[in-house]
Amino acid sequence: RGDLEELDPDVAELIRHETARQARTLIMVPSESTIPEAVREAVGSAFNNIYAEGYPTEKTRRMTEAEILDYDRQINDFRRNSDDRYYKGTEYANLVEALARRRCAEAFATEKSGANDLYVNVQPLSGAPANSAVYTALLQPGDTILSMNLMFGGHLSHGAPVNRTGKFFNIISYSINPETEALDYDEMMRLAIEHKPKIVIGGYSSYPLAPDWQKYREIADAAGAYLLADVAHFAGLIIAGAYPSPIDYADIVTFTTHKTLNGPRGAVIITRSKDLAAKLDRGVFPGEQGGPHLNNIAGLAVALRFTRTEQFKQLQLQTVTNAKRLAEKLKARGLRIPYGGTDSHMMVVDCGSITGPDGTALSGDMGARILDLIGIVANRQTIPGDTSALRPSGVRLGTPWITQRGFTETHIDRLGDIIADVLTACVPYRLPKSKGSEARARIPFDVFQQAKLAVRDL
Ligand code: PLP
Repeated sequence: RGDLEELDPDVAELIRHETARQARTLIMVPSESTIPEAVREAVGSAFNNIYAEGYPTEKTRRMTEAEILDYDRQINDFRRNSDDRYYKGTEYANLVEALARRRCAEAFATEKSGANDLYVNVQPLSGAPANSAVYTALLQPGDTILSMNLMFGGHLSHGAPVNRTGKFFNIISYSINPETEALDYDEMMRLAIEHKPKIVIGGYSSYPLAPDWQKYREIADAAGAYLLADVAHFAGLIIAGAYPSPIDYADIVTFTTHKTLNGPRGAVIITRSKDLAAKLDRGVFPGEQGGPHLNNIAGLAVALRFTRTEQFKQLQLQTVTNAKRLAEKLKARGLRIPYGGTDSHMMVVDCGSITGPDGTALSGDMGARILDLIGIVANRQTIPGDTSALRPSGVRLGTPWITQRGFTETHIDRLGDIIADVLTACVPYRLPKSKGSEARARIPFDVFQQAKLAVRDL
């Protein structure tokens, strides 16, 4: 017993600093959001303390929430009959996981695929392990995956050479049509027919436009492949109807729970097929992981309960409205927005289009650094045309967190001006070779200072 301040003042102080940083800055990393206190309480609860390898009893999948929470019946039944967990002492763990699964199935149910048609696994520890568990379940080393090129917005865990996927599987990448800057479904179809992948992946970390899941389905069918929709970024938007749902089209859907869903760190796998569900469950445990993080699963159950509220729906819709508005504003202020804009909560800004008198271009890293110095937190990002993931020329901006803080169109217009003011005022340059060839950027002090104050006032 005891409080953190007394027992470990060093960590307590770091937490205070981090909390203050989050309150002081405008966080525009699209994959970040702040969790409700109630979710945090569940994450810090006694469920942290236990092991529960295995899964909830199968019949709880078809139970309503009220049936799952019928304690006397469930717990007696579990104690008498269950051997689905490798540990004893897991009767409440069983129920909290069953509850999270059920709430998740209800949140993602569509008119065609009801909650009882969806098999949910809430144990993946994060997005990349969830995808790895899918590959463990369905692929053999050397099998082919067709996925979005990392440079164009794909994710590391979809086959980047530095990732396990890129080492163990044969990765074929699709990209965008250079003229429209939207996904090139014809190219995707051609690659699918030529390379016959086992899995086609739809899903992205920085491609901001809405996909056509029906077309993805046709492409996967043409190759006889599974369709995996990794909607890590978009899960909250999908629940609120603000982004197309892949549920009726994909064989497997994966997503993280800590981005637009506003839940604890973790991930989920959903499928409509009972056979696939059994394989995927084994892919997660014992294929990929040991014991589930039940505290996070309890937190997820709470976050999913919040997704039923009108407040959650409005938050997601406003998040997209804000992102679209910001993209238009930045374009109007002369910045280049790759992909032409956004249909979601994020966009990328091409810093490379900002050049100095000697022709030096602003890099994504310099752009993100200058924004950080005025109090706007974002990340550098590859954009179409980049050739190195280490030297990207874009900055990725997202609206989930600032929308949680209450930003609407008027704030966004002011924010767009601040971002455009500082980025367009940057003058990139290179020092003479003798002093090192790293590119740098200058910014007039008054522009910088005004932007910093304006961020504080927002
Ligand atoms: N998949 C996509 C599309 C993502 O954008 C991300 C994270 O940003 C992940 C998977 C991985 O999630 P995690 O960082 O939780 O492993």
